[in-house]
Amino acid sequence: MPYVLDTSAILSGRIFTGKLYTTPEVAKEIKPGGHSWRLMEFLMSRGMEIVEPSKKAVDTVKKTAIKTGDIASLSPADIEALALAYELNATLLTDDYSMQNVAKELNIRYESIIEEGIKEKFYWIFRCKSCGKFFKEFYEICPVCGGKLKRVRKD
Ligand SMILES: [Zn+2]
Repeated sequence: MPYVLDTSAILSGRIFTGKLYTTPEVAKEIKPGGHSWRLMEFLMSRGMEIVEPSKKAVDTVKKTAIKTGDIASLSPADIEALALAYELNATLLTDDYSMQNVAKELNIRYESIIEEGIKEKFYWIFRCKSCGKFFKEFYEICPVCGGKLKRVRKD
Protein backbone atom coordinates (compact mmCIF):
# COMPACT_ATOMS: atom_id res chain seq x y z
CA MET A 1 0.00 0.00 0.00
CA PRO A 2 1.54 3.32 -1.03
CA TYR A 3 1.27 6.28 1.33
CA VAL A 4 1.74 9.99 0.78
CA LEU A 5 2.96 11.82 3.88
CA ASP A 6 2.14 15.43 4.57
CA THR A 7 4.24 17.59 6.90
CA SER A 8 2.33 16.53 10.02
CA ALA A 9 2.88 12.86 9.15
CA ILE A 10 6.64 13.38 8.84
CA LEU A 11 6.80 15.42 12.05
CA SER A 12 4.83 12.77 13.95
CA GLY A 13 8.02 10.71 14.13
CA ARG A 14 6.01 7.55 13.54
CA ILE A 15 7.46 4.68 11.60
CA PHE A 16 5.23 3.87 8.67
CA THR A 17 5.45 0.65 6.74
CA GLY A 18 4.70 0.46 3.04
CA LYS A 19 5.92 2.48 0.09
CA LEU A 20 6.27 6.08 1.25
CA TYR A 21 6.12 9.26 -0.79
CA THR A 22 6.17 12.94 -0.14
CA THR A 23 6.47 16.01 -2.36
CA PRO A 24 9.07 18.77 -2.95
CA GLU A 25 6.83 21.41 -1.31
CA VAL A 26 6.41 19.27 1.82
CA ALA A 27 10.19 18.74 1.97
CA LYS A 28 10.62 22.52 1.69
CA GLU A 29 8.52 23.02 4.84
CA ILE A 30 11.01 20.97 6.86
CA LYS A 31 13.90 23.09 8.09
CA PRO A 32 17.32 21.58 7.36
CA GLY A 33 19.42 20.50 10.30
CA GLY A 34 16.85 20.19 13.07
CA HIS A 35 14.95 17.35 14.63
CA SER A 36 12.29 17.45 11.91
CA TRP A 37 14.98 17.14 9.27
CA ARG A 38 16.37 14.04 10.96
CA LEU A 39 12.87 12.51 10.99
CA MET A 40 12.60 13.13 7.26
CA GLU A 41 16.08 11.77 6.59
CA PHE A 42 15.18 8.68 8.57
CA LEU A 43 12.08 8.10 6.42
CA MET A 44 14.17 8.72 3.28
CA SER A 45 16.66 6.11 4.49
CA ARG A 46 13.71 3.71 4.67
CA GLY A 47 12.90 4.38 1.04
CA MET A 48 10.60 7.42 1.13
CA GLU A 49 10.69 9.14 -2.25
CA ILE A 50 10.11 12.79 -3.07
CA VAL A 51 7.87 12.96 -6.14
CA GLU A 52 6.31 16.00 -7.77
CA PRO A 53 2.68 15.53 -8.84
CA SER A 54 1.62 16.45 -12.38
CA LYS A 55 0.20 19.89 -13.06
CA LYS A 56 -3.05 18.24 -14.07
CA ALA A 57 -3.41 16.55 -10.66
CA VAL A 58 -2.56 19.84 -8.91
CA ASP A 59 -5.24 21.64 -10.96
CA THR A 60 -7.82 18.97 -10.11
CA VAL A 61 -7.07 19.37 -6.40
CA LYS A 62 -7.25 23.17 -6.60
CA LYS A 63 -10.58 23.10 -8.42
CA THR A 64 -12.00 20.67 -5.88
CA ALA A 65 -10.68 22.73 -2.94
CA ILE A 66 -12.38 25.81 -4.38
CA LYS A 67 -15.61 23.84 -4.63
CA THR A 68 -15.41 22.56 -1.03
CA GLY A 69 -14.31 25.95 0.32
CA ASP A 70 -11.01 24.61 1.65
CA ILE A 71 -8.66 26.39 -0.75
CA ALA A 72 -7.83 29.24 1.68
CA SER A 73 -6.66 26.85 4.38
CA LEU A 74 -4.40 24.79 2.12
CA SER A 75 -0.69 25.55 1.69
CA PRO A 76 1.16 24.71 -1.56
CA ALA A 77 2.57 21.69 0.31
CA ASP A 78 -0.95 20.53 1.25
CA ILE A 79 -2.12 20.84 -2.34
CA GLU A 80 0.89 18.91 -3.66
CA ALA A 81 0.44 16.10 -1.13
CA LEU A 82 -3.24 15.78 -2.09
CA ALA A 83 -2.37 15.84 -5.80
CA LEU A 84 0.28 13.15 -5.40
CA ALA A 85 -2.06 10.89 -3.42
CA TYR A 86 -4.67 11.42 -6.14
CA GLU A 87 -2.22 10.65 -8.92
CA LEU A 88 -0.55 7.60 -7.33
CA ASN A 89 -3.82 6.25 -5.94
CA ALA A 90 -2.06 6.31 -2.57
CA THR A 91 -3.42 6.75 0.93
CA LEU A 92 -2.85 10.23 2.29
CA LEU A 93 -1.50 10.45 5.83
CA THR A 94 -2.66 13.70 7.35
CA ASP A 95 -4.36 15.17 10.41
CA ASP A 96 -5.45 18.30 8.56
CA TYR A 97 -9.27 18.69 8.36
CA SER A 98 -9.21 20.67 5.13
CA MET A 99 -6.96 18.14 3.42
CA GLN A 100 -9.18 15.30 4.61
CA ASN A 101 -12.23 17.14 3.37
CA VAL A 102 -10.79 17.61 -0.13
CA ALA A 103 -9.53 14.00 -0.10
CA LYS A 104 -13.05 12.80 0.65
CA GLU A 105 -14.42 14.79 -2.27
CA LEU A 106 -11.84 13.27 -4.64
CA ASN A 107 -12.25 9.75 -3.25
CA ILE A 108 -8.65 9.74 -2.03
CA ARG A 109 -8.17 7.38 0.90
CA TYR A 110 -6.72 9.08 3.96
CA GLU A 111 -5.73 8.15 7.46
CA SER A 112 -5.11 10.24 10.54
CA ILE A 113 -1.81 9.97 12.34
CA ILE A 114 -2.45 11.06 15.89
CA GLU A 115 -2.85 8.82 18.92
CA GLU A 116 -4.63 5.73 17.67
CA GLY A 117 -2.21 5.13 14.84
CA ILE A 118 -2.73 4.33 11.21
CA LYS A 119 -3.46 0.62 11.42
CA GLU A 120 -6.86 1.11 12.94
CA LYS A 121 -9.66 2.45 10.81
CA PHE A 122 -11.85 5.05 12.42
CA TYR A 123 -13.75 8.18 11.69
CA TRP A 124 -14.05 11.51 13.41
CA ILE A 125 -17.22 13.39 13.98
CA PHE A 126 -17.77 16.66 15.75
CA ARG A 127 -19.82 17.41 18.81
CA CYS A 128 -20.93 20.76 20.11
CA LYS A 129 -19.65 21.39 23.62
CA SER A 130 -22.68 23.56 24.40
CA CYS A 131 -25.77 21.86 22.93
CA GLY A 132 -24.32 18.38 22.42
CA LYS A 133 -25.42 18.01 18.79
CA PHE A 134 -23.28 15.84 16.52
CA PHE A 135 -22.05 16.91 13.09
CA LYS A 136 -20.30 15.03 10.30
CA GLU A 137 -18.37 18.11 9.26
CA PHE A 138 -16.35 20.63 11.17
CA TYR A 139 -17.78 24.10 11.66
CA GLU A 140 -15.97 27.01 13.28
CA ILE A 141 -19.04 27.51 15.44
CA CYS A 142 -22.03 25.25 16.03
CA PRO A 143 -24.69 25.94 13.35
CA VAL A 144 -27.38 25.30 15.97
CA CYS A 145 -26.27 27.31 19.01
CA GLY A 146 -22.97 29.01 18.12
CA GLY A 147 -20.96 26.93 20.59
CA LYS A 148 -17.55 25.37 19.97
CA LEU A 149 -17.21 21.99 18.28
CA LYS A 150 -15.00 19.26 19.63
CA ARG A 151 -13.70 16.38 17.56
CA VAL A 152 -14.83 12.98 18.81
CA ARG A 153 -14.16 9.51 17.56
CA LYS A 154 -16.84 7.44 15.91
CA ASP A 155 -16.28 3.68 15.67
ZN1 LIG B 1 -24.47 23.77 19.69
